[in-house]
Amino acid sequence: MAEYTDPLGVAEDMPELSDGDDDDIDDDERQWQWMEEEDSQPVTCLFCDRLLNSVAETLQHCTAEHQVNLVDVIRKHNLDDYGYIKMINFIRSKKCDASCLTGLPDVPLPWESEDFLRPVLQDDPLLQADPEELCGIEGPCSSTCHSSTAESQDALLHRAQAAEERARSSEEALARAMDDLHKLKLLAQDLVLNVDTSRCGNLGAVAELREDEDEAYFSSYGHYSIHEEMLKDKVRTESYRDFMYRNPEVFKDKVVLDVGCGTGILSMFAARAGAKKVIAVDQSEIIYQAMDIVRSNQLEDKITLIKGRIEDIKLPVEKVDIIISEWMGYFLLFESMFDSVLYARDLYLADGGSVYPDLCNISLAALGDTQKHRDHIAFWDDVYGFNMACMKKAVVPEALVEVVKAETLVSEPTVIQTLDCNSLCLSELEFASDFCLKITNTADCTAIVGYFDIFFDKGCSNKVMFSTGPQVTKTHWKQTVFLLEKPVSVQAGDELKGKITVRKNKKDPRSLLVTFDFGDRKQTYSLQ
Ligand code: SAH
Repeated sequence: MAEYTDPLGVAEDMPELSDGDDDDIDDDERQWQWMEEEDSQPVTCLFCDRLLNSVAETLQHCTAEHQVNLVDVIRKHNLDDYGYIKMINFIRSKKCDASCLTGLPDVPLPWESEDFLRPVLQDDPLLQADPEELCGIEGPCSSTCHSSTAESQDALLHRAQAAEERARSSEEALARAMDDLHKLKLLAQDLVLNVDTSRCGNLGAVAELREDEDEAYFSSYGHYSIHEEMLKDKVRTESYRDFMYRNPEVFKDKVVLDVGCGTGILSMFAARAGAKKVIAVDQSEIIYQAMDIVRSNQLEDKITLIKGRIEDIKLPVEKVDIIISEWMGYFLLFESMFDSVLYARDLYLADGGSVYPDLCNISLAALGDTQKHRDHIAFWDDVYGFNMACMKKAVVPEALVEVVKAETLVSEPTVIQTLDCNSLCLSELEFASDFCLKITNTADCTAIVGYFDIFFDKGCSNKVMFSTGPQVTKTHWKQTVFLLEKPVSVQAGDELKGKITVRKNKKDPRSLLVTFDFGDRKQTYSLQ
């Protein structure tokens, strides 16, 4: 649960409202006094390191030195309190220069995300200013307004109502935060007491916990190393590139949505391939880098970046012609990001549009790698002279993500599932499939290996595919290894028959549970 902050500083900074009994100072004067008090703290300029004496002086300085009239920006985009605060925090966090405020689109503004409600500078006096008031001070009508008592009373009343409204919405937010905390506390108690939470009416709290898990998921994509690893995976990245560059007719003048754009690489490929417009969405902080990257490559006219979960944001267009996304996880479905692509497809894809990649295969093969088996299983029999054999039962159910040597394969591979990304529905991401592995070598089968292949096929004159299997160049997905606790002897020509079931782990829907059933033995593996 995100800590509740009071971004408007309402609790502390709200001007007292007159009760009408104080005759010494009239309302108008009181308001101006308050403004002056607010203004007395030093203010750091938005675009340089200068410290100014007041908010008003800062506005003047920005206009004179940086040619940015903040009041004009507030008016142009009709910014309310929240919009204004987000703009200030956006400028401070991005350290953008004044030019970032010129030529902004009407929607979406780059500070749309709620993240910009969080103050960048502590006690930032600019955040305590009221945009309406700023417009009032600077506005062309300010002198005449003050000459008319009736009008200024109206204005004050309006401000008081706005302040009351702010206080009310902050109170509501605080109540919601307290409620969330309470639910989390109950959930934590249930977990400690080992109670099945799904049966105790605490579903709201479970949902909150899921949100926290999602936060962890997205923050993992905020780290740069993961993007470096993906970009350096040439098999992956060059396949996307080749698909787009070699099939420009697919992209010419099309509106493209990139679900989970990361650094923006796929969006830039699409723009270079001839797309008319690309909308790139990512919930992770990496999108701020993507904004700079897109600008550095002069593609800002073509690519619109939006920070947010695709499920939460509203796209600036009704429909798109193409959806591109690199959503694949280990054993294809780990991470469950494809759920988000399906959401986007069902909501935004125009009739006749396409999702790429469009086809995916999941395959299995039998492995005979006694060395690997010893390293992971027999290892526990003697660990520095101690018997830790009880660990074997705990270790086996954890599927391994490792590179498998092609020479340790002892069967032909077999495809257990083909997914058509353009027609698939959510329920098909959980499935059961009978399989038959044709054994090619007489050996001890020590594990089953799983991997996937990806195809860019639909409507392409130059089709592109890549495999994450053990027979070809390795990728960052490596392979997924399901160790058998006890190896099985197999003869060349045998058929090893079984059934695989793939389902989401209800306790953590981004992870998978995979069960192998060979008739005489059954084992469930988790992929975390
Ligand atoms: N397209 C980039 C990054 C792929 S990694 C590339 O090919 O290099 C997947 C990205 O999708 C991550 O940055 C993650 O933050 C983002 N993502 C996952 N689910 C999302 C969702 N529901 N909404 C928005 N972004 C999402």
